[in-house]
Amino acid sequence: MTFDLTKILRPHILNLVPYSSARDEYTGKEGIFLDANENPYQSVNGQHWNRYPDPYQWAIKEKLAPIKGVRPTQIFLGNGSDEPIDLLVRATCTPREDTMLLMPPTYGMYQVSADINDVPVIKVPLTPDFQIDTPGVLAALTPHTKIVWICSPNNPSGNLVRREAIVEILNTFEGLVVVDEAYIDFASEPSFTQELDNYPNLIVLQTFSKAWGLASLRLGMCFASEAIIKVLNKIKPPYNLSGATQQLLLEALDYVETKNQLVKDILAEREQLRTNLAALPLVKRIYPSDSNFLLVEFDDAYAVMQYLIDQKIIVRDRSKVILCEGCLRITVGTLEENTTLVQTLNAFA
Ligand code: PMP
Repeated sequence: MTFDLTKILRPHILNLVPYSSARDEYTGKEGIFLDANENPYQSVNGQHWNRYPDPYQWAIKEKLAPIKGVRPTQIFLGNGSDEPIDLLVRATCTPREDTMLLMPPTYGMYQVSADINDVPVIKVPLTPDFQIDTPGVLAALTPHTKIVWICSPNNPSGNLVRREAIVEILNTFEGLVVVDEAYIDFASEPSFTQELDNYPNLIVLQTFSKAWGLASLRLGMCFASEAIIKVLNKIKPPYNLSGATQQLLLEALDYVETKNQLVKDILAEREQLRTNLAALPLVKRIYPSDSNFLLVEFDDAYAVMQYLIDQKIIVRDRSKVILCEGCLRITVGTLEENTTLVQTLNAFA
């Protein structure tokens, strides 16, 4: 397989000149800044938010790179993973001409972004055990397919997708292969980030919204070759992460051990919740999980969900989703929350 990024990008994106400013050279340095029409005084609440933030978030990337085992230039940070998802579609897919391949049931945002950008999708469902139908995928690819989206651990099923299947697609497909690892910290296998130097068409997405407990900050990570990261930097809104977000994230990166401990606690809770749910007569099946949620099958999922809502417990109805018929997706909560959930389900008449 020969990968040529220039064949994957939309032609006008190739020729775009990135936004730049003389300020780029002065990030973090002293100077008199009269170039960006900012207010020279500190903000109305007395804090130092009057200056635009570093558009490339270098301080964060320098700190994050060794944690992730990549180079700072292989990192793009976005306003949630949803931002790089949308940028990737816009960079590669000419509306109504190019296509992307999805494997339902999967994370909904790939389809949302396809719809917003008027990009048709090819769907090759996962197998009943939520693994890639590799022959089906390879047969469905066309010269117009620009991106294959793989979610691993998969949302909403919770399982890891087999590595060999991902590697086969990486080796065969001449477009981009996105491996969305939003839940990788909860998984029993390592990330694909360590494969970046082996596959120029690989893109790995991760997020600070799950294991790091920072969903409110809206922080997504995208790891790829320097060439792909350059393209994302070229087309992103200039200051896509606020200064406040950057400051909070820089502080949070000091707490890797705390994050790891939280993950351990959630994993222990997940297994306890699995055991307790499995003991309930109304639970038909609980799927294997490498993430912080469980896909649980009930006789009447809709009735169970309505009952839970009446008790102020909100879970995600996946009962109409392909291969998830009759299932609810349940996030692992605190010990107290999980206990209340199980007790409430136990009282379901
Ligand atoms: N990918 C997957 C698989 C997800 O489940 C989610 C959130 N539910 C995201 C990405 C989005 O994460 P973020 O909060 O970073 O936009």
